[in-house]
Amino acid sequence: KGKLYIVPTPIGNLEDITLRALNVLKEVDSILAEDTRTSSVLLKHYEITKPLKSYHIHNEHKVLAPIIERINEGENIALVSDAGTPAISDPGYLLVRECLANEIEVEALPGATAFVPALIKSGFPTDRFVFEGFLPHKKGRQTRIKEIAEEKRTVILYESPHRINKAVEQFKEFMGEDRYISISRELTKLYEETITGTVEEVLVAITERKIKGEMVVVVAGKDYKPV
Ligand code: SAM
Repeated sequence: KGKLYIVPTPIGNLEDITLRALNVLKEVDSILAEDTRTSSVLLKHYEITKPLKSYHIHNEHKVLAPIIERINEGENIALVSDAGTPAISDPGYLLVRECLANEIEVEALPGATAFVPALIKSGFPTDRFVFEGFLPHKKGRQTRIKEIAEEKRTVILYESPHRINKAVEQFKEFMGEDRYISISRELTKLYEETITGTVEEVLVAITERKIKGEMVVVVAGKDYKPV
């Protein structure tokens, strides 16, 4: 039997890949990629040539059985996503579950993921935190925000630049303008920036100047007070 390797790739800065990740990518028989074009650019940069197959939310159910079969026949397979750690708000969970059900060993390599640097840069407590991934776009969005409003632990969210203003306005409505939040955008990239303050302060800042790029939102617990 082969193994499945979950391999994190950079979230911006191309140096954020571990030596082990590069070695695994060089040694596996094939690589499953969320987007083969994105990953082939990355692999080319590290001078890795491997058969690439697509594995994304639209085909992940369909391709499970053939992948399991290949690993059972002895192939070692790596899974990468467009950026960061596969299975973290990215495809991967289903495949891991299927491998474990088939007694296939899964090696999850530690590496780049956007929420850890965002949490740390917020300055909010890191001893207990909750990762909420993306908020629902429509149905259930308000309910989720109301739940987060009651949360005592630090909460981490992924949000798209198109919805960030809406999100912060909803925080104001359901959490109050004095709740502390932090937005980290373009982490590890040239225009990396973190904006931290009360909901009202952040709302003013992002309304004056439209913010772009990929971003992580960190919401302080409901009892949090800065020093
Ligand atoms: N698997 C990835 C990880 O480990 O973080 C997350 C993939 S998810 C589809 C993409 C989201 O991650 C973006 O919408 C953004 O919230 C966050 N993200 C990814 N790269 C980022 C970066 N360089 N700076 C800030 N947020 C980032």
